Amino acid sequence: MKILCADIGGTSIKAAIIEETGNTIEFKEAPTESALGGSHVMENLIRLLRSYEEEYEAVGISTAGQVDSVKGEIIYANENIPGYTGMKVKAMLEEEFSLPVRVENDVNCAALGEAWFGSGKESTDLICLTYGTGIGGSIIMDRKVYGGESGIAGEFGHMVIHPGGRDCNCGKKGCYESYASARVLVKEAMKMDPGCDNGRKLFQRIQEGDVLMTELLDAWAKEVSYGLVNIIHIFNPALIVLGGGVLEQDLAFEAIRKHTFSQIMNSFKNVRLVKASLGNKAGLLGAASLFLNS
Ligand SMILES: [Zn+2]
Repeated sequence: MKILCADIGGTSIKAAIIEETGNTIEFKEAPTESALGGSHVMENLIRLLRSYEEEYEAVGISTAGQVDSVKGEIIYANENIPGYTGMKVKAMLEEEFSLPVRVENDVNCAALGEAWFGSGKESTDLICLTYGTGIGGSIIMDRKVYGGESGIAGEFGHMVIHPGGRDCNCGKKGCYESYASARVLVKEAMKMDPGCDNGRKLFQRIQEGDVLMTELLDAWAKEVSYGLVNIIHIFNPALIVLGGGVLEQDLAFEAIRKHTFSQIMNSFKNVRLVKASLGNKAGLLGAASLFLNS
């Protein structure tokens, strides 16, 4: 089976034809132009998908925003894509292509990608967390997304870790992502050295022996571990897949592992923490998996 897949992000739309094996044919990328609004994004998406001449049997879409995956509609998208909330993505694409269409949120698609084709392919159940601007999370059971009552379960970034603490974008205080996102790590680094404005520079300073930056990374890894400890004690998962650019760094990953394992109960210590392995292709592969059976 060949599935035409797209991953709609804030800055670019990625697309490819993906086979059941995960084999990826003809990867393409085009600007989302999200500021121009949801209808414009849909036009860009359709143009990109129409540019494929090869045969395919279904269309799988990974997209930013909260998604009703049954109806294939956008429940809510923030101001990054104005007018995207309420977009009937599945209905529009089914009319355009006369093929089965499935739509899922990008965080869930990234987790599905890892579950089917990446670090989680040996496991049927896993938890996936991605540390970036915020913290995204997904719960995968039997290689399907566990969505909860409304399909939006797994908002691990908004667990309250520090009651009454820092303001969060969600309007609450003390959320996990206000302490443990990659954005916060870089923001804290910039307070000490305004030139240290991305993760790559931060890790370069640490490699060069910068003690303050090393301590900062360790303190951040401890914040990351608080969330993981809660998740491990709630779900007793066999596997947690951790993604995001900063987590690709062994120094960060090992510090997180150390702090996490020092805090969990002995009976939970069989959990495995692994790095995500698919990078920015995870969402596309996850979109293809929407048509696969476990
Ligand atoms: Zn929050």
